[in-house]
Amino acid sequence: MQKQIIGYSVKNQPIELYFKNNEKAKFSILFLGGVHGNESEGFLFLERFIQEIQNHQISIPDKISLWICPRVNPDGCNVLRRTNANNVDLNRNLPTKDWTNHFTEPKYYPGPYPASEPETKATMVMVENIKPKFIISFHSYEMPMINYNGNCLDLAKKMAEYNQLEPKGDIGYPTPGSLGTYAGLELNIPTITLEILRGQSPDEVWKQHLDAVLSSLEFYL
Ligand SMILES: [Zn+2]
Repeated sequence: MQKQIIGYSVKNQPIELYFKNNEKAKFSILFLGGVHGNESEGFLFLERFIQEIQNHQISIPDKISLWICPRVNPDGCNVLRRTNANNVDLNRNLPTKDWTNHFTEPKYYPGPYPASEPETKATMVMVENIKPKFIISFHSYEMPMINYNGNCLDLAKKMAEYNQLEPKGDIGYPTPGSLGTYAGLELNIPTITLEILRGQSPDEVWKQHLDAVLSSLEFYL
């Protein structure tokens, strides 16, 4: 895979975007990880995924272009903190119609205004430039699930055949300023928020999710 820097974090760390751009591709797919820096289950999975593509242990269909940003929030990932270095929850900072400055707990601080954070701007640049057919954002949660926003219940069900998690259209609490709302509902880019079981070991995560993720690559071909 090739690599480019798509932006810089608050602490000036590069936000890296890996890609395999195929000329014959019918469409692009975007995977994001590490939006919440304490959810290492997601970014470690994606980093291994990139490595196995590089080592030819995993092959990617030539009819797709694949873009992977494993650590959207590098400052948070480095210290395993949910928020970015300004204490902003990046999954509440996107400029959605329902964005609000109201928040119930410090960990959900949405920032001073929508898209105030450089990591959010980098996310928007990726979504706008890549124009993916769908997005999977890798998170973790005590209640694992395949959360889908936009027209992708069919894709969520296919992934569920492999990882045995339940597709859910609603995570169970409001998420204004989230990627699912921004991309999935407002830009009509189907978005899966894959909530991996929090605390699962990297090997268990890999075993449970690899085939589900691989199946997503083929799903719309
Ligand atoms: Zn999360």
